[in-house]
Amino acid sequence: MLQLGFVGLGVMGALMAGHLLRAGHSVRVWNRTASKVKPLKKQGAQVAAGLRGLAAECDLIFICVTRAEDVEQVVEEALAAARPGTLFVDHSTIAPSAAKRLGERLNSLGHRLLDAPITGGSVGAQKGALTVFCGGGQDDFERAEPFIKAYSKVARLVGPQGSGQMMKMANQIAVCITVLSMAECLVFARKAGLDLKECIELIGGGAGGSWSLSNYGPRAAARDWSPGFSVANQQKDLVYALEAAREFGVALPGTAMVHQLLASLENEGRGGDASAALFEVIEGLSGGRP
Ligand code: NAP
Repeated sequence: MLQLGFVGLGVMGALMAGHLLRAGHSVRVWNRTASKVKPLKKQGAQVAAGLRGLAAECDLIFICVTRAEDVEQVVEEALAAARPGTLFVDHSTIAPSAAKRLGERLNSLGHRLLDAPITGGSVGAQKGALTVFCGGGQDDFERAEPFIKAYSKVARLVGPQGSGQMMKMANQIAVCITVLSMAECLVFARKAGLDLKECIELIGGGAGGSWSLSNYGPRAAARDWSPGFSVANQQKDLVYALEAAREFGVALPGTAMVHQLLASLENEGRGGDASAALFEVIEGLSGGRP
């Protein structure tokens, strides 16, 4: 049986590692904040004392941390003890250029990288129904896919290293505009005295519907900003997307506007709130709460 490692047990990683355990795989976990390993230990995970200890024992290392520099830090530490030919599967959303660079470094050392960002949110992670965009070699994809299946409904190889992140950027561009559309629609509806539940139900099934309206809409209506996909993570992704777009000479006026609007939440120290809190930014521009 191949030994799996999982690093980064945040909102997404903890749920994904849980699915790997439930599917019967042998999983060794490590998290920077040690207390977060407890629920996984209860589910049968082995707990590594450090990244080197984890790397020394694992054939495949799954990573779900935050930014490019966090992934690089984790990989560098693991490299000190990694077995020859270790396959790193990075589920964090990072810049496509950083994924390519990391892939080249790992290839040169006889290791492998599959950049494999995820979409589907914490609800998708809970249900084991994420979509995974993979960038890398066909052989590496085939090595990782049986494990990725434990927490995904779709996993697709979309091109060489860096392509998974590029597909994720395209996804984030599309999603952020639907979050804005949800926010504008519901702030308008509330000001107009409409019932928000009815609005989400009726509009959600038609041309105005979106995943954001159906999933974030009810949370926005209840002002529930508890973590799911955070403002800080959304902003990180939009910076990566805007950088990648500049590289290709693509104009993203809508994406740039959402990035600017969300900056006001970050400036208020609300980076940990769910990105659906964009609703309150639009409400603020509309004279505040009714
Ligand atoms: P999260 O809850 O903030 O968890 C981040 C995890 O990364 C934590 O375990 C954190 O450790 C660890 N970490 C961060 N920097 C680290 C470092 N330098 N060294 C070691 N560990 C480090 O984030 P999340 O929501 O699970 O998201 C994880 C990734 O998935 C992000 O790239 C995000 O953009 C992406 N993503 C998230 C969602 C979503 O809906 N949440 C959806 C799709 C993609 P500590 O516990 O010590 O802080």
